[in-house]
Amino acid sequence: MNDLQPIALPGVDPRRPLVIAGPCSAETEEQLLNTARILAAEGIRIYRAGLWKPRTKPGGFEGVGEKGIAWMQRVKRETGMYTATEVATHQHVETALKGGIDLLWIGARTAANPFAMQEIADALRGVDIPVLVKNPVSPDLELWIGAIERIHNAGIRRLGAIHRGFTSIDKSLYRNHPMWAIPIELHRRLPSLPIFCDPSHIGGKRELIAPLSQQAMDLGFDGLIIEAHCTPDSAWSDKAQQVTPDALAYILRNLVIREQTTTTENLNELRAQIDKLDDQLLELLVRRMRVSRDIGQYKKEHDMPILQTQRYEELLARRAAQAVELGMDREFMRTVLQAIHEESVRQQMEVLGK
Ligand code: PEP
Ligand code: MN
Repeated sequence: MNDLQPIALPGVDPRRPLVIAGPCSAETEEQLLNTARILAAEGIRIYRAGLWKPRTKPGGFEGVGEKGIAWMQRVKRETGMYTATEVATHQHVETALKGGIDLLWIGARTAANPFAMQEIADALRGVDIPVLVKNPVSPDLELWIGAIERIHNAGIRRLGAIHRGFTSIDKSLYRNHPMWAIPIELHRRLPSLPIFCDPSHIGGKRELIAPLSQQAMDLGFDGLIIEAHCTPDSAWSDKAQQVTPDALAYILRNLVIREQTTTTENLNELRAQIDKLDDQLLELLVRRMRVSRDIGQYKKEHDMPILQTQRYEELLARRAAQAVELGMDREFMRTVLQAIHEESVRQQMEVLGK
């Protein structure tokens, strides 16, 4: 996919982050216009609003549909912002194109369905419009790439991806788990594809928008798509995760954008330190494994079983607690110790088998 063109829209600052902001859904003409006016005054140039809303269960607000097109046109006329909406069927694509919508995105539920993706791709054939494809709800990179490829095969060259997190059983912090390794791998596979982050749908709550946006910038994401509403608490969908336009402007102003072009002298020095530490780590691991083999030999001579579960549990708990005291993550330490333990057991089994 090396023939992609930048999402660049005339008059929009091409430096990252490219920001798309606006309400989850278009609700009324007044809500749409009020939100748009404040966002435009804050410098936002691309306005999002969902006209067709996919809802998990029936009975919720399913969007105003085609009626909202005229409202979006008014937003464009009165604020000069570009408009963006979600499409899920060929009728949506046709209505949005006819209505002069400037950018389309495909939602997470639709991106998970190859039939729907193909239908949208066919409706886009021969059209030149920027299209962003959200990740499918499940953490399946191939499915995401497949969805992107279908749009690319239809001839769309201003193409991008949106990382909106993945459904997970563990709902402790995020609404949708970020699993950053997946968008990072997408970038490795398709380096010229711009990637946006959607902190609103990852976090599911307002407080997480700033830290998630910063993380995305630190990871080199190109843009952000953020839900903003003039009166978030009375929003008809996703109210817990929408911010006021003022709050959004505050979040954006405080983002630190670190570019890669700064001097690398200090970085090289730090990398040399890391290399040295890795050498030491490796040597320590080799020595530890040698001791494991000696223990294996001892157990063999004394007819003892390899696995001493109680000792292992104690060791794991003690080291994890120690790691936390030293400012490290408990789970990280458990993962490292588990990997080391697995290899120790393997080494002892080798000794036993001799
Ligand atoms: C949205 O952007 O409002 C939306 C429905 O998002 P997602 O497809 O990521 O759930
Ligand atoms: Mn939403």
